Amino acid sequence: MPGGTVTLSTGNWQTEAALRMLRNNLDPAVAERPEDLVVYGGTGKAARDWPSYHAIERCLTTLAEDETLLVQSGKPVGVLRTHEWAPRVLIANSNLVGDWATWPEFRRLEALGLTMYGQMTAGSWIYIGTQGILQGTYETFAAVAEKRFGGTLAGTLTVTAGLGGMGGAQPLAVTMNDGVALVIECDPRRARRRLETRYLDELASDVDDAVARVRAAKSERRALSVGVIGNAAEVLPELLRRGLEVDIVTDQTSAHDPLAYLPIGVDVDDWHDYAAKKPDEFTDRSRDAMAAHVDAMLGFLDAGAEVFDYGNSLRSEAKLGGCERAFDFPGFVPAYIRPLFCEGKGPFRWAALSGDPADIAATDRAILELFPENESLARWIRLAGERVEFQGLPARICWLGYGERHLAGLRFNEMVASGELKAPVVIGRDHLDAGSVASPYRETEGMADGSDAIADWPLLNALVNTASGASWVSIHHGGGVGMGRSIHAGQVCVADGTPLAATKLERVLTNDPAMGVLRHVDAGYERATQVAAERGVRVPMETQ
Ligand code: NAD
Repeated sequence: MPGGTVTLSTGNWQTEAALRMLRNNLDPAVAERPEDLVVYGGTGKAARDWPSYHAIERCLTTLAEDETLLVQSGKPVGVLRTHEWAPRVLIANSNLVGDWATWPEFRRLEALGLTMYGQMTAGSWIYIGTQGILQGTYETFAAVAEKRFGGTLAGTLTVTAGLGGMGGAQPLAVTMNDGVALVIECDPRRARRRLETRYLDELASDVDDAVARVRAAKSERRALSVGVIGNAAEVLPELLRRGLEVDIVTDQTSAHDPLAYLPIGVDVDDWHDYAAKKPDEFTDRSRDAMAAHVDAMLGFLDAGAEVFDYGNSLRSEAKLGGCERAFDFPGFVPAYIRPLFCEGKGPFRWAALSGDPADIAATDRAILELFPENESLARWIRLAGERVEFQGLPARICWLGYGERHLAGLRFNEMVASGELKAPVVIGRDHLDAGSVASPYRETEGMADGSDAIADWPLLNALVNTASGASWVSIHHGGGVGMGRSIHAGQVCVADGTPLAATKLERVLTNDPAMGVLRHVDAGYERATQVAAERGVRVPMETQ
């Protein structure tokens, strides 16, 4: 069983869970470049370097139930005496003071061995492979279908790019909504990996072949995903020139980091060498390419397609590359996701530490029993059970909100206690959540009160989770959209079947999504105010 057994190699399940999730993040079936400690999202790492990784492992193996390990940008820097309600690990990754928060300064410090890029769940040890993004992507495309295409993507064509750790979820999310997807990827190895894990149905031999396949599937209203190898900055303009009838356009290349986006005219094999040797020249060229890429997206927008930025900073980088109209299309959060955030809804996820897929099947059944009235959740759990290939430890994700997450956590804890599950379950979430992130180009773009850049909320979120009994808590900078553009927090708790875990789970999984409701009440969203009133979230200046 991948990475899991019921025998402990540490003192208790709380630290055992952290150790196994760190290892799981770097499992070759999970991580994009485990040899470099890179998990996903361009250069998102689980530990700063191999000596730091081994030192973290050693600390976790001996950590007592009243001790807390401190991790500073992937390096263990201290073990302190705390208490049993305190997190076993506190993590701060990639944080820089405002005026210094740029990629060149970050890279200078990284080259000195002083920091690392933690992305969101890479450096906070709760990445679960491409499935982690799958439901969010599925929900986003479902919202697009609802908004523009009568509730289904059947008979529509989506064109996007990027088949990496997260972007690889796009083709499956489109076909789960019954649509046709054409995905441009410059690195054939990445495309083949998505084919092998069944996220992608077919790989075309060239653009002609890809166009023929997607046109046929679209006209037959047959769900199909097709990958094509090429540079998005060249292939997308080519598709526009050919007059391909495209309904939806987006992108998930690693545009947040100009060194992780391939410029036109650069070979994939020369990419990393060139970026390392001439970062400034490379950045200029990748921004030029992004401007051409976004120009083509605008061409499809002008032709009537639904076009959105999928949370990778493509618009801001394209603007730096000279594309004046880059912000003519919206980001996906204001366009589709914010109403969910108002309910504290976001990407709740869990992993079975037993390594046994049967444990996830049992938790799937428990979710269906707990929320029988939620049809779209039931459809998701069923489709995920049938179509999602596990990577590393078996895991599941589903979007749950305030008043729901703690019910799931408590049920899982009971299942561990009764022996229905073979080992404890780790419960966490993405940092892309309702109340855990400030990111003006993504999660907090276009807030109703203009509070997009206010970063007190993710800091409060981390403090709340620390105060509520989470097993590990993290504060990161720059995830998703790059240096200087986001601050975000994560929490993970462990359902180990004990009464203490039940009390902690109840608090954390209530208070964490409450931050989403509070953040959106404060920004003036009526739906959030309703949710707070109906579900009993206390907001001092609203309810007294
Ligand atoms: P990744 O680095 O694993 O994959 C990026 C892929 O883009 C790679 O396969 C790369 O070869 C490809 N690529 C780069 N330049 C290209 C080009 N010019 N043409 C075609 N392909 C190109 O990254 P990932 O984990 O898949 O994340 C992708 C982006 O999405 C990141 O910017 C990340 O921050 C963002 N993201 C968004 C969300 C969301 O919810 N919307 C969540 C997580 C991450």
